[in-house]
Amino acid sequence: MSLIVQKFGGTSVSDAQKIKRAAQRVAQAHKEGNQVVVVVSAMGDTTDELFGLAHQITERPSAREMDMLVSTGEQISIALMAMAIHALGYEAISFTGGQVGIVTDSRHTKARIMKIDTKKIREELDKGRVVVVAGYQGIDAYNNITTLGRGGSDATAVALAAILKADMCDIFTDVAGIYTADPRVVPDASKLERISYDELLELASLGAQVMQARSVEFAKKYNVPFRVRPSYNDSEGTLVCQEAKDMEDIVVSGAAVTRDEAKITLRGVPDRPGVAARLFGELARCNINVDVIIQNIGSHGMTDITFTVPKGDLQEAMEATRKMKEELQAQEVSADSKIAKLSVVGIGMRSHCGVAEKMFSALAQEGVNIQMISTSEIKISCVIDESQAERALKAVHRAFELHKVGEKTGARG
Ligand code: ADP
Ligand code: ASP
Ligand code: MG
Repeated sequence: MSLIVQKFGGTSVSDAQKIKRAAQRVAQAHKEGNQVVVVVSAMGDTTDELFGLAHQITERPSAREMDMLVSTGEQISIALMAMAIHALGYEAISFTGGQVGIVTDSRHTKARIMKIDTKKIREELDKGRVVVVAGYQGIDAYNNITTLGRGGSDATAVALAAILKADMCDIFTDVAGIYTADPRVVPDASKLERISYDELLELASLGAQVMQARSVEFAKKYNVPFRVRPSYNDSEGTLVCQEAKDMEDIVVSGAAVTRDEAKITLRGVPDRPGVAARLFGELARCNINVDVIIQNIGSHGMTDITFTVPKGDLQEAMEATRKMKEELQAQEVSADSKIAKLSVVGIGMRSHCGVAEKMFSALAQEGVNIQMISTSEIKISCVIDESQAERALKAVHRAFELHKVGEKTGARG
C-alpha cells in the first residue's frame, strides 16, 4: 500500500464545485488502495482578503493576531474538503496544523516547521480514513497558532511527505506544471517534464510563485521528489527531483522576474577599508536582507555603493542608510522602488559559456538598460526599470529559445 500526499492550492479549491472535484481525485487515489493525506490552502483569495481586513483595522497588526486571523482560511477548506469526501462515501477527518502536531518556531507570519508528530495521522490512516490537514499553519511551543509565510501550504505538503516517507507528493495547482516562465505572462512558455531542486529553488526565489521557495529548499534537504500538476486534468505535470546528468544539456531552463525589490544608492562614500562592513552590518542588525550589491571603482578617494532590499523594508533600510551616511560622512542617499529583477536559471550554465552575453544582447536589442548585474553558478540576474519588465522577460525567453525547451526536456523526462 502506498502513501500519497496531495496538496490543493487556493485556486483549485476556490468554490464548492472545485472542492468537490478535488475530493473526487482524493477519493480515486483512496479507492486505488492508497493511504491519502490531503493538504489544502484557503479558498481562492481568502488569505489576501483576511490580510486586507486586518489592515483596515490597523496599519501595524500584531503578528500573533495576524496568524490567528489568516489561519482561519485553511480551517474552512479542510472542513469542506472532509465533507466533500464524506459525500462521495469515504471516511475522512480534518485537522488544523496544531491538532496534527505540526510544531514550529515562534516567528509569527514566517515560522519554520521544527517537528511533526505523526502518531495521530498514522492512527487515522490505519483506520482507513483520508486525513485532511490545513496547510500553511502550525503551533509553537507555547500553543500559539503560527503560519509558514505566503504560499506555505506547499511547505506543509512537502514536510508531511518527508516525515511520513510518502511514496508520492502531488502539488495540484491551476497550471499544467512548471514552465520556462510564468505562462500567464509569456504565452509561449513551455512546460518542463523535469526540473532539479536547485533550478526550481532559484526560480521560486527569483519571482516564480508557482512553489514557495522554502518548501523547495525543504524538499531538497530531505530528498522528497514531488510533482507539480494541474488540478483540472490528469496530466502528469512536472517532476521536481535531484539533478540528473542529462539535465545539464539544457543551458537555461527558465526565466523569472520579480518586482519585490527596491534600490538604494549611497554616493560619495570614502573609499577605505571597513566602510562596506559598517553599512551592511547596520542593515543586518535591522534584519534587512540585502540582495544585489555593486560598488563603483573609486576615484579621488570616493566611491558609490548601490544595493537592493525587499520593497517592504525600504523605509527602514533608508533610515539605516541615512544614519550611515552621517557616520561615514558620505554625500547623498537616494532610493528607487520602480525596479524589477530579471533572471535566467539553469544548471547547464556551469558548463556552458556565453549565457551572460546572450542575455545582455537580448536586453540591448529591446532597448533595456541594465542597472545592476549579479550572478551565481546557475543564474544571472539583471536589475532593470520596472516598466520594461514584461517586455524584457519575453525578449530573454525568446533569445534562449525557451519555447522549445519543453520539447528537449521531453527527451529527458
Ligand atoms: P496555488 O494556489 O495552487 O498555490 P499559486 O498561485 O501559488 O497556486 O501558483 C501557481 C501560479 O504560479 C500560476 O498560476 C502561474 O501564473 C504562476 N507561475 C509563475 N511562474 C511560473 C512558472 N515558471 N511555471 C508555472 N507557473 C508559474
Ligand atoms: N493560503 C496561504 C497563502 O495564500 C497559503 C498557501 O496558499 O499556500 O499564502
Ligand atoms: Mg501557492
